[in-house]
Order: sequence, then structure tokens, then C-alpha cells
Amino acid sequence: MPSVLAYHRPLSLDDAGVLLSNPNHVLLAGGTMVVPWARKPSDEGVSVVDLQALGLDQVELDEDRLVLGAMVRLGTLMTDDRVPGFLADLGRRELPSTLRNAATIGGTVAAAERDSVLLAGLLVHDTSVVFHAGPTRPLAELLADRRDPGRAGQPGGIITEVSVATDGSGTIAVTGRTPADVPIVAAVARRTTSQLRLALTGVAATPLLVDPEDPTADLTPPSDFRGSSEYRLHLAATLAARAMEVLS
Ligand SMILES: Cc1cc2nc3c(=O)[nH]c(=O)nc-3n(C[C@H](O)[C@H](O)[C@H](O)COP(=O)(O)OP(=O)(O)OC[C@H]3O[C@@H](n4cnc5c(N)ncnc54)[C@H](O)[C@@H]3O)c2cc1C
Repeated sequence: MPSVLAYHRPLSLDDAGVLLSNPNHVLLAGGTMVVPWARKPSDEGVSVVDLQALGLDQVELDEDRLVLGAMVRLGTLMTDDRVPGFLADLGRRELPSTLRNAATIGGTVAAAERDSVLLAGLLVHDTSVVFHAGPTRPLAELLADRRDPGRAGQPGGIITEVSVATDGSGTIAVTGRTPADVPIVAAVARRTTSQLRLALTGVAATPLLVDPEDPTADLTPPSDFRGSSEYRLHLAATLAARAMEVLS
């Protein structure tokens, strides 16, 4: 049974787009999810399209926003002093250290993992997501689409960069099976002079922004072996209150 049939490293975004328009071609960033998946035998096999030669690994300050290329590694978040300290801390909490040096910001946004504290941090940092040959979209809107069963799937194009607000201060409150485990639920909050934003992980198909005044409104968390829906709802209310208290 074939698995990976071809490896492409395009030198332009347009070329990458053309390659990805072919059947069974998959975009490769850090590969932490794609490589194990692509190596599984399948009837058709896959061709991978690696973005690493496109120069999407730049970090730039643009007035009060930080622009992170889609191929910026999570490890870079922790070492680049232009990255807000709170986001650097959230990067440190994501993935084992070896995988952080491979996994990218673009891959994290595209994967939209339910338990990603970094994604929750990007939400409260008012992140917008830039696509090649497509509209720039607020991360919150992109993730809302991913939670919609009728629209779930890939992010809708090649992500080239994300732009994050740099001001304000943030905090995180978590409950996990152990301190080193991925949290069952996390509340991530950021306060600036003009706004308070709160995001939760572990209560929906992706992290999501919630109303700081009523954080569990309309939530129906999924149950699994790590926690029932009721337990997750209880954690969400408790952790949101803790995070709000720190920022009050
Ligand atoms: C052991 C282990 C632990 C993990 N722990 C966590 C965790 O704690 N939190 C978490 O959130 N995730 C976790 N993950 C999932 C995953 O590794 C992360 O979401 C990671 O950040 C994906 O980034 P990547 O660059 O490796 O993406 P890849 O594996 O290269 O790609 C992932 C998906 O995103 C798409 N993609 C990548 N880049 C782009 C782009 N620029 N534009 C459009 N689509 C793109 C790919 O086509 C693919 O569908 C874990 C995975 C493993 C194997």
C-alpha cells in the first residue's frame, strides 16, 4: 500500500497553491500531525507540499501588532523577545519540547485543536489570520467556522501569517490530571486599557472566546474519559472566575 508518493518544496506561494489544488496533496508545515498521518498506508497515497522554502518564518513588529509568519516555530515564541511574555509562556505550555521546535504557528491555527492553550492565547490577543490569495480573517471567526459541523475541515487556503495585538497583560487558570498534562479545561484572559477578553479550551470542538460576564452561556462541552460535560462546565466557571480575579 502506498503512503507518501512525492515530496514538493515549492519556491513560491502560487506554485504551492497550484500543487495543493491537486487531489491527495497535503500541505506540510512542522509535520507533527501530518507526518504520522501521511505515513499511514492508504489506497491512493499522498503527496506532501512543504512550505519551508517560502520565507514564512519571519517575526516583525508592525506598530502595535506583531506579525508572525505561518512557519514560525513554537520554540521561537519562547526565544524572540518581541513576542509578548504571556504568549511566550503559552507557547512553552504547548507540546513536548522536541515537537515545539518543529510545530508552527500556521499549523497550530490550521489544526485548531480543542485543548490548545496557545490558540486560546491567540484568541485573547485579538489575532487575525492572513491567507494567500484570500481574505484576512479574525481567528475567532475562523474557529467558529471550524466548530460548525457543516463547515468543519481545513482552514480554507494557505495561511501565510498571523497578526497579534501586543498590549495588555494576561493570565491562565488550568485544571489537568497532573500539572504537566494538557489541561482538561483552561481559562485564558487578557486585559488592556480598553477591553477584557476571555477564552476557554476543552469545552467545545476548538478553543473559543466567551463573555467574561457569563463565561458558560450556551456551552455544551463534549464528554470524554478526561471529564464529563458537567465537570468541564463546572471547571469552566471556576477557572474563568479565577482568571478574572487575577486581572481585576
Ligand atoms: C505528541 C503530540 C502532542 C501534541 N500536543 C498538542 C498540544 O498540546 N496542543 C495542540 O494544540 N496541539 C497538539 N498537538 C497537535 C499538533 O502537533 C499541533 O497542533 C501543531 O501545532 C501542528 O503544527 P505543525 O506545524 O506541526 O502542523 P502540521 O502537522 O504540518 O500540519 C497540521 C495541519 O495543518 C495544516 N497546515 C499547516 N500549516 C498550514 C498553513 N500555513 N496553512 C494552511 N494549513 C496548514 C496541515 O495541512 C495539516 O492539516 C500534538 C501532537 C502530537 C503528535
